[in-house]
Amino acid sequence: MKSLGLYFHIPFCPYRCHYCDFLSFANHEHMIPEYVSCLIRDLKFFLPDFRDYEIKTIFFGGGTPSLLRAEQIERILSAVYSYCHTAAEIEVTLESNPGTITLEKLSGYQAAGVNRLSFGVQALQNRHLKRMGRIHTAEEAQEGFKLARKAGFQNLNIDLIFGLPDQSLEEWEESLNQVVQWEPEHLSTYGLQIEEGTPFFTDYRQGIFSLPGEEIEALMYEKTIKRLRTRGYEQYEISNFSKPGYECRHNLIYWNNEEYLGIGLGAFSYLSKKRFWMTRNMAKYLKGEEKISGWEVLPLEKEVGETMMLGLRLKKGISNVRFFGRFGKRLQEFYSHLISKYEPSGLLKWEDDALHLTESGFMIANHVIQEFLLD
Ligand code: SF4
Repeated sequence: MKSLGLYFHIPFCPYRCHYCDFLSFANHEHMIPEYVSCLIRDLKFFLPDFRDYEIKTIFFGGGTPSLLRAEQIERILSAVYSYCHTAAEIEVTLESNPGTITLEKLSGYQAAGVNRLSFGVQALQNRHLKRMGRIHTAEEAQEGFKLARKAGFQNLNIDLIFGLPDQSLEEWEESLNQVVQWEPEHLSTYGLQIEEGTPFFTDYRQGIFSLPGEEIEALMYEKTIKRLRTRGYEQYEISNFSKPGYECRHNLIYWNNEEYLGIGLGAFSYLSKKRFWMTRNMAKYLKGEEKISGWEVLPLEKEVGETMMLGLRLKKGISNVRFFGRFGKRLQEFYSHLISKYEPSGLLKWEDDALHLTESGFMIANHVIQEFLLD
């Protein structure tokens, strides 16, 4: 039986954060009950496509999945368990915003089968949280984390963002130092991207704030790697760190360019070399019109390029044996020119049969990785 990751998109948020361009709506909570029914409707619709698959991971992303009541998560998970083959050791992740949780809700998620929680903490200085439009304070984030432990969660992730407007290196280190004391099993640390169409984009263009700049951001990233290493976290992906055995198995499916089914507004899927996506129009989504709003069959070059682009994000890189098993050719047959360009300069390295970026390669990963796209 083949493996599959299952993703549910929950496009509701209590408030739109000022840096965010994800597909989600504030003040639409009244739609949640109908939306949950539509997710189950679509799970049944796609069933024939993945009868031969075993679901290894489930991920509730968004948006703010923790706006859903525990009974609503339970309804969705019961449907998955009734209609699909699921792995015994399934990983079930739910993204949560510390401003939307209570002990009762978290205990309900736990009872429903969620076994991994991801907390959007982002920073631990209230002035940054306020400027970002987050609805919680640093103290509430810490309290939320404690509640999750109290509810019984043993696999917790914290998301942090560096390179915030007017953020100093010391503030970033302070955020890092504080969260490691909470001892989460996993940390994701992302550099801020200023996305077009967001309030941050407008403010930045108008010079309302300045950003730390490339040099400071590179230092923040370097400090992150060193600090987390000394606390026993392994960097297994450019932006992701975990205690041994706590890598996010769902995201590994994406980075290994393996198959997944995405259900919900605007969700993407990748099945049988075909990528397809659902409508981004809420009215159409709820009516069940135009379930698949677009699709493409990936030509070989694109599939190879994307496998490289994603796999090189991983510390262990890309195994030549696996690559050969998938594409019938060795890495060198596609990329000898890039390997000889970057290996001597110490940005790429072979280890056993895998090609991976080195620590210096990670520092300029975006630049190197894009050259691996073939089309
Ligand atoms: S809570 Fe998350 S998804 Fe919602 S607006 Fe903020 S960053 Fe975006």
